[in-house]
This record gives sequence, structure tokens and C-alpha cells, in this order.
Amino acid sequence: MSLSDVKSDIAAACKDAGRTVASVTLVAVSKFQPVEKIEALLQSGHRVFGENRVQEGKEKFPALRKKFPDIELHFIGHLQKNKAKDAVKFFDVIETVDSTELAAELDHEMTKQKRNLPCFIQVNTGDEAQKGGVAIKDLHALLAFCRDKTKLKIVGLMCIPPVNELPDLHFALLHKLAGEHKLPQLSMGMSADFLRALRYGATHVRIGSAVFGARESQ
Ligand SMILES: *Cc1c(COP(=O)(O)O)cnc(C)c1O
Repeated sequence: MSLSDVKSDIAAACKDAGRTVASVTLVAVSKFQPVEKIEALLQSGHRVFGENRVQEGKEKFPALRKKFPDIELHFIGHLQKNKAKDAVKFFDVIETVDSTELAAELDHEMTKQKRNLPCFIQVNTGDEAQKGGVAIKDLHALLAFCRDKTKLKIVGLMCIPPVNELPDLHFALLHKLAGEHKLPQLSMGMSADFLRALRYGATHVRIGSAVFGARESQ
């Protein structure tokens, strides 16, 4: 596949679902991809990218931003509190807020750096011990904390379904939770399942290998 294949698949899925193409943001996941490939996408007009490690985003993107100042870089990995400062500095959207401690630290850094970045709350819909994301039972409290104790701009929810399960139930659940909390944006769906995610109302699909080809390592 390629960027144009993925885009036409998204357009077809939107048509089926009675949605506009503009209602979907394709986040091209560039982790482990060489800068040359990212630059090729930029040359073709694409601007929204995702990285899952702060260090890698910090190494690859500042030079690219000099040529393409309107890049929008999403942080999509597990964020440690001690990396919050750089995450706020080098990224434009944080998709993986998952604890009150991290929310407080991001709030502190955003205030300090005067950068009020849109944030998603990552929900651990599969209740997996090794995975990031807030437990479903703690989502309400985390949202209340963000609303009452921080100035974070929480725009939506994000999830990564368990690898060996049908993703549909997770997408449906995230859609339901976002509705209950009146959050407009839903980041869900990767190369293997973005078409399904779009059926459940994904507004952001995070696609790596289908856009760039296989990664050089994990
Ligand atoms: C790597 C990654 C993706 C993209 O995965 P592909 O299967 O290559 O599309 C999406 N979301 C997150 C959080 C990732 O870490």
C-alpha cells in the first residue's frame, strides 16, 4: 500500500458511512522510518505524523519543521513523566494522557512553555497489564481531574486494542465512552483495522506500515 492507496480507502469508507473525508485525520506513523521517507510524504503534501518515542521525534522533526513549518506531530507512545517537558516542546498533540500525575505534569509544562496542546486520554480498553492507558473504571475521575485541576484541552479518547482480539468491540466501546463524556475526537485504527475503526466513528487513524512500508525494526 501507499499513502494514496490509504487515502482512497479512507475516502471510500467515509462515503459508505455518510461522512466527509475532512472528518478524518490520517496520522502517518513515522516511528523507525528514515527521514527521507518522511520528507517524501511532506513533499506530496502530507503534514500530520505520529511518533511513539520522545527522543525519536526530537531527533527527526526539528530539521523537517524548518522546511515545513505547518507539520503537526502527534505523540502516540507511553509517556513517562520525566519526558513531559520534551514532549510538550517537540510535539503538537499528546494522544496518551493516562494518569493524574502525567496530566498534572503536562499541565505544568504547557503553562511554563505557553503551549496549550490538544490532548487525548488513552483508554486501556482491553484491561491489559502491560499496556498504557487509564482503566475504564478510572476514566471518569481522570477527566474530572483534568477539567477541575488543570487547563489541559482534552479533545478525545484514544485506544490500542489487544493484538489477538477482534478490534470492533474496543472501537465500539471507545465510541460509547467518548459519547458519554461529550468528547468529539476518537483516535483509533491502525494499518490492519483502520477501515473498521472508521465504521465506529474514528476521527484520527494512526497508520504506519500501510503508508510507509514495513518498519526497519520495532
Ligand atoms: C506503531 C503504532 C501505530 C501504527 O501501526 P501500523 O500497524 O504500522 O499501522 C499506531 N498506533 C500506535 C500507538 C503505534 O505505536
